Amino acid sequence: MRRSTLPLRTAGQIAAVAAALMVPLLDAGAVSAQQPPQACGNNGAGFDQWLAGFKQQAIAQGVSPRTVAAALNGITYDANVVGTDRGQKVFAQSFFEFSDRMVANYRIQQGRALIQKNQALFDRIEQQFGVPGAVLVAFWGLETDFGAFMGDKNTLRSVASLAWDCRRAEMFRTQLMAALKIIDRGDLTPQTMRGPWAGELGQFQFLPDHYWNYGVDFDGDGRVDLIRSAPDALASAANYIKALGWQRGQPWLEEIRVPPNLPWDQADLSIKLPRAQWARFGVARAGGGPLPADNLPASVLLPMGRSGPAFLVYPNFNVFTEWNNSLTYATSAAYLAARVAGAPPFNRGAGKAIPVLSQSQVIELQRLLNARGHHVGRVDGITGSATRQAVKVEQMRLGLPADSYPTPDLLAALRAGR
Ligand code: CA
Repeated sequence: MRRSTLPLRTAGQIAAVAAALMVPLLDAGAVSAQQPPQACGNNGAGFDQWLAGFKQQAIAQGVSPRTVAAALNGITYDANVVGTDRGQKVFAQSFFEFSDRMVANYRIQQGRALIQKNQALFDRIEQQFGVPGAVLVAFWGLETDFGAFMGDKNTLRSVASLAWDCRRAEMFRTQLMAALKIIDRGDLTPQTMRGPWAGELGQFQFLPDHYWNYGVDFDGDGRVDLIRSAPDALASAANYIKALGWQRGQPWLEEIRVPPNLPWDQADLSIKLPRAQWARFGVARAGGGPLPADNLPASVLLPMGRSGPAFLVYPNFNVFTEWNNSLTYATSAAYLAARVAGAPPFNRGAGKAIPVLSQSQVIELQRLLNARGHHVGRVDGITGSATRQAVKVEQMRLGLPADSYPTPDLLAALRAGR
């Protein structure tokens, strides 16, 4: 799901890697400024009174008093959860680092095996929602290793604590209300509603409001159980992906071969050209065959710059960036799905020779870009779309190949005031 305002979990195997990619948190000041001073806190003082008020609000919104009592009576403020949330370090990983770890062979094999073993289920899901099994198992594998690592903290306590904390109170109050509705509907109990510390739930790590809005009962037992029922979890993920605009039968990503004289400035996710135009530029399929000369809109994605692997991404790729707005995550997930669907490993291009800026170098680059009038957003050492865009403009100005990939050469040029 979209994580632009949500921390990723820190417990479990997935967590360590996912946190590595974490998207920046909202600026704390911007959120707390919108809250009246008594409506939230920076520690546990006042939590109980606020929770009492929240219970009334939940009942007013139609949650049964019995559910509210069962879910929230005796809940205490968890300073550890809030501390973990506040202390999260944002650090970046390159596409090579992340995809080498996450698109591991065992995960590709296991994804394929799960589809084979549950072919009828995946067929039924694809028929109903239009989303192929390879895409579902890619997210399933990345989020929880196919349901193996879902977290074991009391979700209600975590989410209530974060809903009291001033920084993102409103967002977590929405989550807490959705969590109560899920329990009230009979999907989970307060005891079974457990997950990582930041409130995600189940085999696809849905936030409670996604659970509420997109969860479906697919095994027919009358409950939406995204923790224990793989059919429910898979169909719900497909339902959510469909809602994000997935187009049935359409591709999402394929590896390509690009010519050395590609107009690099066209390799930009915001530039979508007909596939026939890419073919005219000399782009070919990874195996060397010609691209279909049709009008399917596509962007060229060069996650490691022009010397690294090259992909053509289609409108369905948007679902991956909506699921998680880290481009590294999105590209890795789309690539994992392609591998599960049968694609060979990508060509690493120059591989180890491709320079990778350290996080502190990216921070320095971002400061230099801002000083030149660009707006890269939060200076966090993560090369997001705004940073890539500014890099491209500076590459064009300096006469460098404008592939939007930050290099030591570019950093040196900006440092030198060129
Ligand atoms: Ca069910």
